[in-house]
Amino acid sequence: MNAIDYLRISLIDRCNFQCQYCMPEGADLTYALQQDWLTRAELRTLLQHVFMPVGFTRFRLTGGEPLLRPDVVEIVDDIAHLPQTQDLAMTTNAFLLAQKAEALWQAGLRRINISLDSLDPDTFQSIIGGRGKSRWHDVWAGIQAAHRVGFAPLKLNVVVIPGVNDGEVLDLAALTLEREWHVRFIEFMPIGNSDLFQHRGWIPSEELRQRICDRWGLAEGTVRGNGPADVFQIPGAQGTLGFISQMSECFCDRCNRMRLSADGWLRPCLLNETGQINLREQLRNGVPLAEIRAQVAELVDAKPEINFKMRESGTTGAYSRTMSQIGG
Ligand code: SAM
Ligand code: SF4
Repeated sequence: MNAIDYLRISLIDRCNFQCQYCMPEGADLTYALQQDWLTRAELRTLLQHVFMPVGFTRFRLTGGEPLLRPDVVEIVDDIAHLPQTQDLAMTTNAFLLAQKAEALWQAGLRRINISLDSLDPDTFQSIIGGRGKSRWHDVWAGIQAAHRVGFAPLKLNVVVIPGVNDGEVLDLAALTLEREWHVRFIEFMPIGNSDLFQHRGWIPSEELRQRICDRWGLAEGTVRGNGPADVFQIPGAQGTLGFISQMSECFCDRCNRMRLSADGWLRPCLLNETGQINLREQLRNGVPLAEIRAQVAELVDAKPEINFKMRESGTTGAYSRTMSQIGG
């Protein structure tokens, strides 16, 4: 059994994008009140006195959009300098990254994953929603800034939606040829926008691998922090290709992560909230840290039983929370 040592921390559930697959237009999304966000000090207390003693050593900051959190750099600084931290990474849409990359690096962040669903500014804009000038160039500038500053491995996440961006799979894969970038294709899940999912469906990773293999050939590859991705490499390429196949190859049995929402809910699984604990309420009600720690340890022990079984449950169900609300 995998050690449960990886915590995904949502810093904020709001976002400056409204990606079709994550936050559908017109959806009735409710956001946590700012006063309910875990503060920087509360996060530090929880990590130091609850999560680390229970065995968590690897952390990812996510959201919503984590760069919208005003104290994101200070939070990175805190976590990066805790002695038990073995790994700290961030997932971002990179819209604000050009301005913040240097400060994040100085604070101690070394790994970053960026969502980039299209190389075409118009397609990109249609995916992320909103009118006006495409934001693609700002995101691209954010990616270049991350590259310049030295984040490594630098991973680009692509959610593949049939008929929307699947025609760009080869162009996106080609980004790895001359740069040490790691492009990861994620199977679209029926979470966030189940109407779009029912309408468009999803493409199995195997099919994408075949398309890429037909063009260049593919060998197995490796990259640090590959998590649930199957990693391959185009022969001679600088970077790698990852395939995250949660729809076609359920990896719930080897899941080693828990999720902490912006308002302090600790959840054992993306899709199964059994046993969730509100750590913010406990902290603010003065529950002793030893007691909170014991509850978290109990939830960690229970996780293998709680893990959602994607395959057993069927794969086209719809889930009430979006990735941005849970902390994707
Ligand atoms: N805003 C940041 C970003 O987009 O990178 C971080 C939060 S976002 C919720 C984290 C990840 O969830 C992104 O890589 C996004 O593509 C993924 N995601 C959101 N909804 C999804 C869905 N329905 N199926 C698959 N991946 C999804
Ligand atoms: Fe925002 Fe990320 Fe969701 Fe897109 S995928 S709406 S950028 S949280």
